[in-house]
Amino acid sequence: MNDEASTACHFPGCCRPIHARKVCINHYIEATRLIAAGKTTWAELVAFGIVAAARPQRKQGKSIKARLKESRAAAAAVSFVQPILASCVDMLPGH
Ligand SMILES: [Zn+2]
Repeated sequence: MNDEASTACHFPGCCRPIHARKVCINHYIEATRLIAAGKTTWAELVAFGIVAAARPQRKQGKSIKARLKESRAAAAAVSFVQPILASCVDMLPGH
């Protein structure tokens, strides 16, 4: 691996600078168009090694407070859903 490989478009024979997902703006737009046309998906392009997988959202960007809030929201959702699920199970025949 040389430095060129990490800064130039991933697409074979293309040497334009990377825009996103390791491809140049032209190839990125081309890929987006193919996906929009339903000819392929990002997952497929990633699987073929044509583009890089999307970077996961930076977790360090979120404050601990925000993460706490999220986990509380998740806990609240679970405690809201559980009684409903439980009542559904009670309604099942033979229970
Ligand atoms: Zn390119």
